[in-house]
Amino acid sequence: PTSLNNLAATFPVEANVHPTSDEQREALIDKPAFGQLFSDNMVRMTWEQDTGWSQRKVMPYGPLQLDPAAAVLHYAQEVFEGLKAYYHSDGSIWLFRPDANAERFQNSARRLSLPPLSTDDFLGSVAALVQRDVTWVPRRREYTLYLRPFMFASEPYLGVRAPHQVDYCVIASPSGPYFTGGVKPVSIWVENRWFRTGPGGTGFAKCGGNYAASLVGEGRGSEHGCEQVCFVDAATGTYLEELGGMNMFIVHKDGHLETPSLTGSILPGVTRRSLIELAGDEGHEVVESMIKMSDLLEDIRSGEVTEVFACGTAAIITPISRLVSDEFDVSLGEGQPGQLTMHLRERLLGIQLGEVEDTHDWMWRV
Ligand code: PMP
Repeated sequence: PTSLNNLAATFPVEANVHPTSDEQREALIDKPAFGQLFSDNMVRMTWEQDTGWSQRKVMPYGPLQLDPAAAVLHYAQEVFEGLKAYYHSDGSIWLFRPDANAERFQNSARRLSLPPLSTDDFLGSVAALVQRDVTWVPRRREYTLYLRPFMFASEPYLGVRAPHQVDYCVIASPSGPYFTGGVKPVSIWVENRWFRTGPGGTGFAKCGGNYAASLVGEGRGSEHGCEQVCFVDAATGTYLEELGGMNMFIVHKDGHLETPSLTGSILPGVTRRSLIELAGDEGHEVVESMIKMSDLLEDIRSGEVTEVFACGTAAIITPISRLVSDEFDVSLGEGQPGQLTMHLRERLLGIQLGEVEDTHDWMWRV
């Protein structure tokens, strides 16, 4: 693939400061709290309608100055991405399918009438930050540097229209393994009252508003003792869609898998897409379909469905052992992760950590 080095070089380092000492940093990234701790630097770049993207730079991490009339604060024109930098035991640093994140970022931007960022700028900006803050990539197994590219309408204007000024940033947060002390299945609340999106909505876009809309469902889930919430389609309330931040798969007893099809209201996960290919490599058929919640419950009860799991960049694969709502409470797997679930998790994690051969050329060296 394109050399990330050349692309990163288009983002000059503005100031050569590293406010965190080596000792402080080592202590911090050893016990990272996801999303609370950030590396020393960030990327920033600006778009104006007349001139396009300019002012590419890597600069010290710090607060943004924003006009109170900035459109994003009023109309939520914001899209983001999430990917990780992985440390390999030979000391090299890698990204997993960043080109897929670049493509999704473009699709998200178009849906929100924001200017799509070129794949080269996306890759270059992410690589530039990782290179600058390379010492922030944790070395412990399963620890990573989480990267968060995002753009928003910074134009001070209260009229409702596509913005004439937009800002783009990348920040980085060291993160530990999602599961400490072994992979543990979670309980899922199936939310049937508040939807995150609907037909023709913004479900396929990674925009902040979708996550704001998901929080009441998350709240209802935690009131019922569930760690995650599963959303169903808003039009009929019957089809399985995805979790607040992960896609879903089900495993049938004959070894074939099913995952909800990309109807437009589901985020097309990079992990989802990769697992479809990995499962296929090993001879497991994967069907993308509209899955009725009532059919899934029946199939779990009858033993037709033997495993259910969720997937995403953060946790790779999260086994699911219970589905709960006002109307049902169904368990599977006796609280243990499924066999295929764990096998696929090991394979994908192995590729990301450079321990399993990357036959698909998914890894990009920074
Ligand atoms: N669905 C939603 C709503 C998400 O926020 C995410 C995380 N980006 C995913 C699915 C999984 O996507 P990915 O595999 O690209 O992380």
